[in-house]
Amino acid sequence: MARSTIDKLTILADAAKYDASCASSGTSKRDSKNSKGIGSTEGMGICHSYAPDGRCISLLKVLLTNFCIFDCRYCVNRSSSNVERARFKPEELAALTLDFYKRNYIEGLFLSSGIIQSANYTMEQMVEVARILREDHHFAGYIHLKTIAEADPELIALAGQYADRLSVNIELPSDQGLKTFAPEKSGQTIRKAMADVKYRIDDRKEAQKSRLIKKAAAPKFAPGGQSTQMIVGADGAKDQDILSTANTLYSGYGLRRVYYSAYSPIPDASSDLPPQKPPLMREHRLYQADWMVRFYGFETSDVLSATTGGMFDLDVDPKLAWSLRHRDWFPMDINRATREQLLRVPGLGPTTVKKIISARRFSALGLEDLARMRVSLTKVRPFIIARGWSPGALVDLDNLRARFSPAPDQLSLFAA
Ligand code: SF4
Repeated sequence: MARSTIDKLTILADAAKYDASCASSGTSKRDSKNSKGIGSTEGMGICHSYAPDGRCISLLKVLLTNFCIFDCRYCVNRSSSNVERARFKPEELAALTLDFYKRNYIEGLFLSSGIIQSANYTMEQMVEVARILREDHHFAGYIHLKTIAEADPELIALAGQYADRLSVNIELPSDQGLKTFAPEKSGQTIRKAMADVKYRIDDRKEAQKSRLIKKAAAPKFAPGGQSTQMIVGADGAKDQDILSTANTLYSGYGLRRVYYSAYSPIPDASSDLPPQKPPLMREHRLYQADWMVRFYGFETSDVLSATTGGMFDLDVDPKLAWSLRHRDWFPMDINRATREQLLRVPGLGPTTVKKIISARRFSALGLEDLARMRVSLTKVRPFIIARGWSPGALVDLDNLRARFSPAPDQLSLFAA
């Protein structure tokens, strides 16, 4: 008996939940007023809500199919897995997306897929969903397509014409990890696909700058850029390996985001995969470290100097860990330090630093001014000099880290 669309959705939306790379920021502005159809990425159009586990749920996040000819060992959809399978036809999925959009359930579509028949065949089907939405229905909402690295570059080029964002999953931080856990995938092929996407994005930007090509006439290509996902805790990679790979991807392939996704144990997993998820805090620390590089002006090597044995401290955030290791930088005078120096102070982010620099032009700032800016004084006090405040020897205390660590938990006798 043929499955209903809702049955398929139940299976294929559940199968997509392991994919973290679905944030929808950074795309170009489009509005239904300017298109013949429906949808908008502007104003109230694209916003994000998150499930309790942190995953973005503002998009219809779904697989075209969870059939797969590959057998990646960390994946619930691998060919040897015993899960229930389903597959959408492109027209069916496009209709479902439109239906959800019109009911205001979603702001767009995040589409990924297992590989059926061949990488090219699958990619063609995914592109067809986007084509139907854009060309047949003039859908102006957000589309994120997960591209299949092994597919023909011409298909990826076509995908970029319809999608706001493309992503190619790097999956694991090292080629060795891929060889062990995803033997049909190749790090080289994945990086080549990323390079190809980058080339086309850059080409589009150049065309837009050209005086000879009108902005609107430049061929569209993934205006929201490209992203990728790395699985944390499936292989033995340490935080330092993960962040180093992310650094290479940001600098070499111009990625907008690297998503870190804690490995979720799957049914009938092979014995060399961990039986439990890594602590979610590990994923969180990696995101914080990633932000330090992208928004706080730290070099990756700098951030990694806060690790122990290649791993971030789970009890204190990486910036605080870095500050505790580099106390010679402190105390920092908040009324004199440069923006770059202030961004090194634990508890001060780019927005607060901007406020400090603006406010100190009128009068020297004290702790009460920082409190008004909602800065945690407990966190900054040991590291700053302010009007009427000097930390004295506080910053050199041996037990300073203990002041920031969470109180120890009483272990439960009944914990698993
Ligand atoms: S190719 Fe993708 S869907 Fe298929 S087994 Fe590997 S990770 Fe899973």
